[in-house]
Formats: sequence, C-alpha cells, structure tokens
Amino acid sequence: MSDTRHTKLLIIGSGPAGYTAGVYGSRAMLDPILVQGIEPGGQLTTTTEVENWPGDTEVQGPDLMLRMEAHTKAMGTEIIGDIITDLDLSKRPFTAIGDSGTTYMADAVILATGARAKWLGLDTEEKFKGFGVSACATCDGFFYKGQEIVVIGGGNTAVEEALFLTNFASKVTLIHRRDELRAEKILIDRLMKNDKIEPLWFHQLIEVTGTDMPLGVEGIKVKHTKTGEITEIACKGVFVAIGHAPANELVIDQLETHMGGYVVTKPDSTATSIPGVFAAGDLTDHLYRQAVTSAGMGCMAALEAERFLSEQE
Ligand SMILES: Cc1cc2nc3c(=O)[nH]c(=O)nc-3n(C[C@H](O)[C@H](O)[C@H](O)COP(=O)(O)OP(=O)(O)OC[C@H]3O[C@@H](n4cnc5c(N)ncnc54)[C@H](O)[C@@H]3O)c2cc1C
Repeated sequence: MSDTRHTKLLIIGSGPAGYTAGVYGSRAMLDPILVQGIEPGGQLTTTTEVENWPGDTEVQGPDLMLRMEAHTKAMGTEIIGDIITDLDLSKRPFTAIGDSGTTYMADAVILATGARAKWLGLDTEEKFKGFGVSACATCDGFFYKGQEIVVIGGGNTAVEEALFLTNFASKVTLIHRRDELRAEKILIDRLMKNDKIEPLWFHQLIEVTGTDMPLGVEGIKVKHTKTGEITEIACKGVFVAIGHAPANELVIDQLETHMGGYVVTKPDSTATSIPGVFAAGDLTDHLYRQAVTSAGMGCMAALEAERFLSEQE
C-alpha cells in the first residue's frame, strides 16, 4: 500500500555514515527517518575483523553494524527497510520514492549511499559471476576450501581479500598490472610474509575460462602488460578486487560530482551544491573510504542539517 511520510530529516543509507547521522540527528530532535537500502549495515557487513574502529581492538564488521543500528534506533531514529528508487532534489520539501511504494517528503536530506565493488567489464567475468567469480571474499571464500584461487587488483581491497582468502584456499595468486601495490604498508608486509600468496606482477586478466554444465570456473587467461604474452592459470575462484565506485545513481544528474562520480561537498563541510542536501561517507570520499571517516562525516552532516533547518524556521 502506498503512503506518504513527511520528515524533517531523511537519511538515505545505513552504513557508518548513515547510522551516525541518525544518532546526531535524533539528539538534535529532528526525528529522522533512515532508509536502509539493499545492504542494511553497508559495506562492513561484508567483512570479518575490523581492527581500526576506535574502542575495539578487534570487532566483527557485521556485529559493529548491528550495534550501530541498535544505537541509532535507541536514540530515536526511525529505521526503515526500504530502497529509495527515485529522488527529486529540485524543490523543497525534497521527494524520495521508496521501492515499497512509500513517498518520503523531507525538509533536509543526508545522502549516505556509500560505494560498491567495481568490475572489470569482461564478458566471461559476467558469465561466471556467482559461479566462481566474486567481489566478496567474506561472502564466498568459504566455498574455496583447499582450492587454488586468484585475486585481481593491487590496492587495499585486493591485499585484504588475498590475506583473508588464505584462511580457505590452498594457494592465492595475486595478479596486478604493475609491480607495486597501492595498499597500506602493514597490509603489504603481511601479504609478503604469507607463504600461501604468490604475487604475479605485470599481468592483467583477459578471460575467465570454465565449464558450462554445470557453470563453473576452471582457470583464467592473463596477459603480460609489457610483452603481451598470454598465460593460462588453473583456478577454481576469481576474486575481483579493484576497488569501489560511489553509489550516486540517485543524484548523478542533480548534484555536482567529481573524481569518477563522488559527490562534491563544500570545503570543511558535507553541504552539496543544493542547499539542504548533505552527503557523507564513501559517496563523497575518494581519499580515505574508512568506517571512522564515514561516521565522522555522518556526524557533520547531521549537525549541518540541524543548522540548516533552524535557519529556515
Ligand atoms: C571488504 C571490506 C572491508 C573493509 N574493511 C574496513 C575496515 O577494516 N576498516 C574500515 O574503517 N573500513 C573498512 N572498509 C570500508 C568501510 O566499510 C567503508 O568505508 C564504509 O562502510 C563506508 O560507509 P558509508 O556509510 O559511507 O557507506 P556504506 O557502508 O557503503 O553503506 C551504504 C549504505 O547505503 C545504502 N544505500 C545505497 N543505495 C541506497 C538507496 N538507493 N536507497 C537506500 N539506501 C541505499 C546501502 O544499503 C548501505 O546501507 C571495508 C570495506 C570493504 C568492502
């Protein structure tokens, strides 16, 4: 059944940015509505140990996000399991349409839709997605117990995924286009010390090979980036870990973006190019992309939304 809800503050997204915005928005008496989206809890629900959340030497990502959700709810935010499919920022109150049929009218909006995995765009990558090709080691690593797998990429995501996958796989080949990783030094040290991981420098994935009946990966073809030589590697799993793209579909035509689609915010602020619309977390952050920085921006966005709304009154 379709209905219309009005709120002073609509928060779109339930990662660290969204939930923190909910805590601060509630404490500012804005009675926020938070729409969780397709991934309640956001990206951290796809990982295991988080070792850099202040106050927890080690915490499981999904547990941390459940605690954040409970905290946000306890402060008074109304948390709704819905997905915003359309957002009109051309006039206030702003209008968001939920997949449930609900229309949300909001005096201010905090966008906290985060980011998601990037893919290489190969036909065979698409063909075997979910049948040996994955972008989530946490979700799928368990299926590769005792098997040989490859990880594609050279940044933090690739190194973290490769390390995590050694918990299951007999061997992990890390395939990177260059001979230098862009990951944090501590992660590179761990990778280099891990006997199960073998880096393959100056190579790129060109094809995933496998069977059709049943659909399953048997190997890959890689090309040397300097000589062009093609090599086949036998493996049962291919983890594509080449980073993330901001989830900007709702606002790409309405807000200023840069650096591959990240929403532009004013300096030292979460204010976007439209007054009353704020952006926080990975959606706007092409540099740090961390839970704690996202939470910090969620705090800023709620405080700025509160200031904006009180100026309107
Ligand atoms: C495998 C992995 C491991 C990581 N490990 C760490 C770590 O150890 N430490 C660390 O600090 N960071 C880590 N990160 C990064 C961290 O998870 C992100 O920086 C952080 O989650 C970003 O928070 P966010 O709130 O901006 O968005 P996200 O966590 O990306 O959440 C986005 C939210 O928006 C919602 N959404 C999207 N579109 C819509 C829509 N149309 N309608 C409604 N809702 C929508 C989604 O459902 C989701 O809830 C890791 C990331 C990954 C992928």
